[in-house]
Amino acid sequence: MVARVIPVETFDLVIFGATGDLARRKILPGLYRRWKEGQIPEGAAIIGAARSEMTREQFRAQVSEALEEFVAPQELTPEVVASFLAMIDYVTVDAKGDGGWDDLAARMRENVVRAFYLSVAPALFGDIAQRLHHRGIADRASRIVVEKPFGKDLKTAHALNADLAAHFHEDQIYRIDHYLGKETVQNLMAVRFANILFEPLWNSQFVDHVQITVAETVGVGGRGEYYDNSGAMRDMVQNHMMQLLCLIAMEPPHCFEPDAMRDEKLKVIRALDPMGPGDFVRGQYRGAGGDDYLLEAGNPDSRTESFVAMKLHISNWRWKGTPFYLRTGKRMKSRVSEIAVTFKEPPHSIFGESNQWRENVLVIRLQPDEGMDLRVMIKEPGPGGMRLKDVALDMSFAEALGNDLDMPDAYERLIMDVIRGNQTLFMRGDEVEAAWAWVDPVIQGWEARGDRPEPYDPGSTGPEGALMLMHKDGRRWREIR
Ligand code: NAP
Repeated sequence: MVARVIPVETFDLVIFGATGDLARRKILPGLYRRWKEGQIPEGAAIIGAARSEMTREQFRAQVSEALEEFVAPQELTPEVVASFLAMIDYVTVDAKGDGGWDDLAARMRENVVRAFYLSVAPALFGDIAQRLHHRGIADRASRIVVEKPFGKDLKTAHALNADLAAHFHEDQIYRIDHYLGKETVQNLMAVRFANILFEPLWNSQFVDHVQITVAETVGVGGRGEYYDNSGAMRDMVQNHMMQLLCLIAMEPPHCFEPDAMRDEKLKVIRALDPMGPGDFVRGQYRGAGGDDYLLEAGNPDSRTESFVAMKLHISNWRWKGTPFYLRTGKRMKSRVSEIAVTFKEPPHSIFGESNQWRENVLVIRLQPDEGMDLRVMIKEPGPGGMRLKDVALDMSFAEALGNDLDMPDAYERLIMDVIRGNQTLFMRGDEVEAAWAWVDPVIQGWEARGDRPEPYDPGSTGPEGALMLMHKDGRRWREIR
């Protein structure tokens, strides 16, 4: 099955930080793939902007190298690459100075969608927003895209919001969380709100608990210094995991419009109970040689967590009494992102005590192999009488929808949404601030107590304490294989 591609409007997209890592690895390769699929119309312009002095030809050569490195060889054809490069321009601009802005203004065209992707350090967001506005390069219809991290606490997030709001309206601001661009995340909304099957059971009366796992095999590597000032709570929980939690727990919005969705997500964050000291476990991978967090972070006394597991409660009518367990970590056994909704036992078993009952679990897999499975009880085949076993109704999206379904990467989808002017999959300023308002006291508590994270072996499933967090509730984490 080949997905239908609807071209977007003609646009001018300026990428600030076009010579940086994110632009090379994700943004430019993603745009190439959309161009190849016919979603970007003839006449669109992509303008790279950074401080480095470079001609347009030199920048095109850099882009060409990035495509060679980050696009699958079978997707690269010389004619398509050549036509893509022909769309690309470059301007030398200093976000903090005067140089280059007139040049940029001169390259922008009238009557096309204007989007500005700020793939630069957040400290530059305000400078760029101000110059775009004052020099008339951005107008009321323009869109501005900003990358994470959106602040390191409520205060800094609030300041970033204020910097942007001084020159752009909220309906022009696109705060990227690439998790929201994943196919499965959107499918989660389809599963919940396009089927009658699940929603009647989607509450504390029928759901025993929910688990959200984001496990990575990579360590902090070259980002050690940056990561050590952040940690798993800021890097993963405040944004990606909180967004997944919101999509699972939110009330059905009255329509699939950006603000209707975001209003409901915000209510979830505001209904989160504060966490107590027994509700979380922090970990740090400690191993020999290069596998050691402290070495990679370059900080022998670091108390930053590379793993965190926690138990959350949502105080509203739907969820009161159903715990949500979240865990995320680096250098873990395998790369897994999934959400598992575990349902309660049936009120009575007619099959007797010899049949061990297993929970019904709906698993939504984000990676690897995006898909869903639902564990249900059936009769074990054969003459052995009425013996039950649990099996998975398993659907891999790649298999179910065809291997040739060309699923766009999250960045591709989100950039096309920016051009379409659709903010549904982007975080609103108040959502981000509410998430920080919940996270801040937790981190402040750790810092005030001087908590040390519990060590765990690289390649493991995290520290012992994380297992205990669930064991003491009579539950267990799903296996990370
Ligand atoms: P990077 O590799 O350090 O690139 C930074 C870019 O900003 C370069 O193109 C740099 O080019 C430009 N720049 C720096 N100072 C500038 C100035 N004063 N005026 C104009 N341009 C300036 O960073 P990155 O990894 O691409 O990350 C960019 C942003 O995305 C950051 O906010 C990061 O947190 C976020 N992010 C990155 C990733 C990732 O995987 N890399 C993932 C998620 C979020 P010049 O030196 O030539 O000016």
